Amino acid sequence: MTDSLTSPLRIGIVGAGIGGLAAACALRAAGHDVQVFEQSRQFLRVGADINLTPNAVRALDGLAPGIGEAVRASAARPTHRISRLWDSGEETSRLAMGDTAEQQYGAPQLTIHRADLLAALAEAFPQERVHFGKRAQAIAQDHSQGEVAIRFADDSEVRRLDLLVGADGIHSVVRAALFGDEQPRFTGVVAFRAVVPTARVGGVPDLGAFTKWWGPTPESQIVTFPLNQGRDTFIFATTAQDSWHEESWTTPGSVDELRAVYRDFHPHARALLDACDAVLKTALYERDPLPEWSQGAITLLGDACHPMMPFMAQGAGSAIEDAVVLARCVGLAGQPAEVPSVLRRYEAARQERASRIQIGSRGNNWLRAGGNADWVYGYDAWAVPV
Ligand code: FAD
Repeated sequence: MTDSLTSPLRIGIVGAGIGGLAAACALRAAGHDVQVFEQSRQFLRVGADINLTPNAVRALDGLAPGIGEAVRASAARPTHRISRLWDSGEETSRLAMGDTAEQQYGAPQLTIHRADLLAALAEAFPQERVHFGKRAQAIAQDHSQGEVAIRFADDSEVRRLDLLVGADGIHSVVRAALFGDEQPRFTGVVAFRAVVPTARVGGVPDLGAFTKWWGPTPESQIVTFPLNQGRDTFIFATTAQDSWHEESWTTPGSVDELRAVYRDFHPHARALLDACDAVLKTALYERDPLPEWSQGAITLLGDACHPMMPFMAQGAGSAIEDAVVLARCVGLAGQPAEVPSVLRRYEAARQERASRIQIGSRGNNWLRAGGNADWVYGYDAWAVPV
């Protein structure tokens, strides 16, 4: 856990997503006065899956008492991580997860509905400290006093924060305030997602595993893994597109269009798509690594500073790792004046790994035909030097 502080800091976090809530838990556990400001009116049950690899689960487990148990109560625990060729179905890599990963990395891989993960995080942090309907619009920093203020779209304001954390996602307002307003880039890839009862895809082998069917082009792939302790199966497929580029957790896609794209895939891969009644679609956006994450007493975490393609399944995991390392670094500040220097430490500890994963995710080659996953899965955010 984080070191205890000589005096609690007044900390504001913009964004109650996975990264913002993870940071709220970790900073509160270190004894700080933490408030979270979220633009939505409430937590929405949107999205489908989150694949938490062992590094993410390890970071999550230490955030608050009971959080690991809450996540495990609804998560599934994939037995393996398998790669297959799209046409022959030939297996090109197989990593044992489950107990093997737990022994090797100190935590298993878990797959969970995104809303269940958010609920577990929200449960671990006092409800009255999450302020909904607060869309941050402007940030002001008084460097001489070391104080930060946030102005919200409803014209309210919060002042005299010792530390502001921008956990406000890929379109971060805090990032724009620090480093300028540059738009994320459409990658030309659209992701389709579906959740189906596992019984409906009974003929497909290894439904207890995370399996990726690698297609003939970098954009064609089908990923499948168990959700809800195996009762449901999550299906994820991507296609190259240039005409539609909306980011959305709720826009329906066409199952027939998807089946047509994948019509030449192996029968087991096609059976996954045949089991889908409906799919949701979203365009995928990304940015280049950001050279700096902090200015004075303001910093960023998660998608606000390193949005990435989902191909290594590390976006949420990286946000949770950031949260842990940030709280550990802030724990080194005995007084508000030391916040800027501990934020430099946080950046120094996190930036190289996050950028490497961000670039690696763009390539979409991760564990395609074997390879060593230790540098990603074996990372311990609670122990890395800060
Ligand atoms: P977000 O989840 O975007 O949260 C930001 C929060 O800030 C939101 O609640 C938003 O409403 C709020 N906000 C935004 N602007 C403001 C404002 N101005 N004022 C107040 N609040 C604001 N990652 C994995 O680890 N594993 C996976 O399997 C995986 N699969 C993915 C599949 C897809 C299709 C996609 C698109 C992503 C996937 N990711 C995955 C990535 C993961 O979803 C993100 O990296 C992760 O959610 C980032 O969390 P975050 O808290 O940084 O940002």
